[in-house]
Amino acid sequence: MFTLPAINLKKIPESRVVPMAKMAELSTYKIGGRVAFLVEAAPIAAELNYLINWAAEVGIPWAIIGNGSNILMPDEDQLALIIKMAPPKEPLTINGAEITVYSGVNNSLLAQKAAEAGLAGLGFLYDIPGTVGGGVVQNAGMNEESLGQLVLSVTSLSPGGETITTAADKLAFGYRESIFKHDFKDHLIISARLKAPGHDDPARLLGDMEAIKELRHSKFPMEYGNCGSVFKRPAGYYAGKLIQDAGLSGYTIGRAQVSPKHRNFLVNLGGATASDVKKLITHVQNEVYKKFGVKLERELLYLEEIWHGQKS
Ligand SMILES: Cc1cc2nc3c(=O)[nH]c(=O)nc-3n(C[C@H](O)[C@H](O)[C@H](O)COP(=O)(O)OP(=O)(O)OC[C@H]3O[C@@H](n4cnc5c(N)ncnc54)[C@H](O)[C@@H]3O)c2cc1C
Repeated sequence: MFTLPAINLKKIPESRVVPMAKMAELSTYKIGGRVAFLVEAAPIAAELNYLINWAAEVGIPWAIIGNGSNILMPDEDQLALIIKMAPPKEPLTINGAEITVYSGVNNSLLAQKAAEAGLAGLGFLYDIPGTVGGGVVQNAGMNEESLGQLVLSVTSLSPGGETITTAADKLAFGYRESIFKHDFKDHLIISARLKAPGHDDPARLLGDMEAIKELRHSKFPMEYGNCGSVFKRPAGYYAGKLIQDAGLSGYTIGRAQVSPKHRNFLVNLGGATASDVKKLITHVQNEVYKKFGVKLERELLYLEEIWHGQKS
């Protein structure tokens, strides 16, 4: 444990600052200790800048998250600041085929609003349980469709405190990749401008989205804490098939299990620790490599990998 520094976040309303917040509530894995400060931040450059300067002054690291649907939180309490992007009252604006959306907005809301406006091509986002910010960073997608393909530009706050808008062709989108994992990894994404590739009947679009959601949920172990697929798809293979063929379906360490329903989901059976999940990940990687010579690369992020400030 540590001594909590005095909270002097004078410019942030008290209602949006949570001391000693439970990190398990910040990740769909439902795992984790506590973090000294959680702030639900508005997508306003001045506010975000204030927060990261405050963390630097107090001398603690910070991380920015969306829905935590791709982050494993650590078991140990963290003397740090987590900034959770919250959606503003007006989450997005639609102008013709163009949509400007704030980073803290859920993909499902974005897809729904687009469909209601008769804009096609965003339906795949409906059941990816994250925010637009996390989706841009990860270039979230399904099958051959990904968020990066819809992006015209992204507005972010640079570590120098500058608000910049970068066109899509400079954002290095690839399979679960973007510049925000590399050169722009210290940027805080404020908003994105997207272009819908087509038009269709709203009722049909909404119906299709619900059907995809139903189909996915019938294949996913949604009854357990999880962060979706843990491993990226290796070229020429499917991670889940390799894991199954390695005889690891249902393999359990502590309370973490290779889901027999979807082998690329390593689930929290209830009471799993981050350490259980990490050990299971390493075991799966080692076994698959031993049997098939394929290196499974993690899609899941560890909070330790995304600290900014002194821990990075
Ligand atoms: C049941 C389930 C199904 C899933 N299915 C899919 C799927 O089909 N396809 C897919 O691609 N993913 C899938 N995922 C994984 C996850 O939903 C995506 O990776 C999603 O894009 C993560 O968004 P998030 O808001 O939760 O980001 P987080 O997990 O909170 O963060 C992910 C990364 O983005 C960064 N980040 C978040 N917001 C910002 C911001 N505003 N500025 C800068 N950096 C930011 C974080 O620092 C971190 O590095 C699934 C997850 C679950 C639980």
